[in-house]
Amino acid sequence: MKKILIIEDEMRIAELERDYLEVNGHSSDIATTGEEGLKLAKENNYDLIILDLMLPGVDGFDICRQLRDRLDIPILMVTARKEDIDTIRGFDRGADDYIQKPFNPSELVARVKAHLTRYERLVGKNRQPNEIRIKGLHIDLESRRLYVNEEEKELRAKEFDLLVLFASNPDRVFTKEELFERIWGIDSFGDITTVTVHIRKIREKVEEVSSNPKYIQTIWGVGYRFKK
Ligand code: CA
Repeated sequence: MKKILIIEDEMRIAELERDYLEVNGHSSDIATTGEEGLKLAKENNYDLIILDLMLPGVDGFDICRQLRDRLDIPILMVTARKEDIDTIRGFDRGADDYIQKPFNPSELVARVKAHLTRYERLVGKNRQPNEIRIKGLHIDLESRRLYVNEEEKELRAKEFDLLVLFASNPDRVFTKEELFERIWGIDSFGDITTVTVHIRKIREKVEEVSSNPKYIQTIWGVGYRFKK
């Protein structure tokens, strides 16, 4: 289910849009002024915004620009005048689509659906990987689980973070100081011997022979490196 924000001062139209979206499985909130719309957009994670151009107070142009400064979700602008569409197109950071009033609600729903799909594809491409597989290691980043040769191993939070840092940067040499700073933060208590202790713990869990590690290797006098 997608969440849609409708910014529209004519309640009759806003409710019509909401009803059609709901029938098609989307939930929506209605804002009847631009200010209210901006406030709701800041406080909630919407998937798409339907924005009326003619609003009391701050108009749709300004709202669109302000929304664009902070959001990259699709914005569909609704306007009563055809000429306005040409004006809006002139803006660099305008809406993703324009719908002229009076519109056929099914048409609106179809465009909403098309933009949601397009946006999902776009975002999906840039999405971070949710797992790392290297040799016998399988790190599930979403559930924070680790499997070694398909057997689940329990790691503590910092051990997991350390392993992910290594596995995300194979062949890179990290000094103990760098690891401590990256995982524990420069202001945290403790000292870099913590790093040594944690790496020993990780090795006990992931290596077949702790004394002859095949994943996290010691680079004497420098630090550690994760071997791919
Ligand atoms: Ca209006």
